[in-house]
Amino acid sequence: MHDFKYKKNELFCENTRISTIAQQVGTPFYLYSYKTLIDHLTKIKKAFVEIDPLICFAVKSNGNMAVIKALANKGAGCDIVSGGELKKALKLKVSPKKIVFASVGKKEEAIALAIKSGILLFNVESVPELEVINAFAKKADKKVQVAIRINPDVEAATHHFITTGTLKNKFGIDLQSTRDLLRRQKAYSHIEINGLHIHIGSQIVNSTPFINAIKKVVGFVNDLRQEGIEIKYFDIGGGLGIIYKDEKPQTAEDFAQNIIPYLKKTGLKIIMEPGRFIAGNAGIFVTKVLYLKDNGFKKFLIVDGGMNDLIRPSLYNAYHDILPVKKTSSKKITVDVVGPVCESGDYFGKERALPKMVRGDLLAVMSAGAYGYVMSSNYNARPRVAEVMVKGNKFAIINEREKFNELIKRERIPDFLK
Ligand SMILES: *Cc1c(COP(=O)(O)O)cnc(C)c1O
Repeated sequence: MHDFKYKKNELFCENTRISTIAQQVGTPFYLYSYKTLIDHLTKIKKAFVEIDPLICFAVKSNGNMAVIKALANKGAGCDIVSGGELKKALKLKVSPKKIVFASVGKKEEAIALAIKSGILLFNVESVPELEVINAFAKKADKKVQVAIRINPDVEAATHHFITTGTLKNKFGIDLQSTRDLLRRQKAYSHIEINGLHIHIGSQIVNSTPFINAIKKVVGFVNDLRQEGIEIKYFDIGGGLGIIYKDEKPQTAEDFAQNIIPYLKKTGLKIIMEPGRFIAGNAGIFVTKVLYLKDNGFKKFLIVDGGMNDLIRPSLYNAYHDILPVKKTSSKKITVDVVGPVCESGDYFGKERALPKMVRGDLLAVMSAGAYGYVMSSNYNARPRVAEVMVKGNKFAIINEREKFNELIKRERIPDFLK
C-alpha cells in the first residue's frame, strides 16, 4: 500500500534512508515515494481496464510539478480547479485533451486560457458561469465542450467540511435545472453540453454513496436519451478514501466491480478524478523533535513542523499516524505531538504512544501526501518547507525550502511610514 517501511529499526522510503535525506535537506520536509504514487495510479487503471477511463489526477491534492509529471508520464491527465493549476499542467505539456476544469468560481483569465489551450471539458457549476464561458468562447471563436456538474443530493458519510454532494453545499446544479439547461442548450451558441460530472465529497470509504449518485446519473442519462438528448462524457469525480488509521476503505477493485456494470450500460466515456487515493499514502511529513516538555499533567513533544505546514489535524481533526524515524526503545510514553505555532490547535497527534525521544530525533507524520503541502501557509512567518521525491535509492529536492528573503520580497513599506 505504501513504500515507507522499517529496515532494522530505521524508516526507509523505498530504498532510501529517511534520516539521510533529513541530514542533507534539513527539517521539516515532505517526502513522496515515486513508486507508491505510480502504484496507486496503476491500481485504478487496472481495476477499470474494462472501460478504459480517462484518469485525471486532482492536482489540488498535490500540486508539485514533479508529482504531476510522474503521473502524466504514466498517462494520467489533470483535474484542475484554477488558472494556476492549469498553467502548471500546460507547462508540463500535459495534453489539453486530458485536462478537465472544475470550480464554482472560475475566474475570467483562467476561462480564457482554458479555451485558448483547448482543454477537454469545463465542469460547469452554475448558469451564470455557463454564460461567461459562452461569451469567452464566442470571443475566441471556438466551440467548447462542457459537462454540467450535477449535485446529486446524496449524503456521503465523511467530514462535513469535505462533503460536496448535497444541496446544502455550494457545488453543482440540481437535476431538474440540468435538464432545463440541456433542453435549451442552443441558447449557448459556443458551447456543447457534452457531459455530466459528479464529485460527492472526499475521503469516502464506502461505495454506497458513490453507487447511489452514479445510479441517479445513469437514470438521468436514460431519461435524456428518451428525449433525444445525447451526451458523451460521464465524469465520476474523485473522493476515494484511504487508510489513515483503521478505516476499511473500498479497494479500487471493489469500487470498480460495484460501479462498472452501471457505467458500462451508459456507453459513455468515463472520466475519473482521484486525488487523495493516489497521493495521500504516497507522502509523509518529516519533522524533528525540538523539546520534550512535561508540565506535570501532560507530556508534549514539541517538533519543528507546525499547523502551517500540515493543517489537516487542526482543520479537520484528521488523524495521522506518527512514527519514529529511528526506533530507539520499545518502551513507550504517551505524548501530544505539537508544533511551535502560537495556537492551541497546532498539533499533529494527541495522546500518542511513542518511544521516549530526545532533541534532534525525527518523526514521520504518515499519509501526508494529499492536502498537505498544498494547504501550507506562512503563518507565524514560517517559510514553506521543502518537498523531496524518492525513487528507489535516489532522492531529489522537488521544491526548495522557502528562504526568508522570498517570504518578504513582495512586502513594501509605504512612504508615509518612512
Ligand atoms: C477535490 C476534488 C477531487 C479530488 O478529490 P479526492 O478526494 O482527493 O479524490 C476531484 N474532483 C473534484 C471536482 C474535486 O474538487
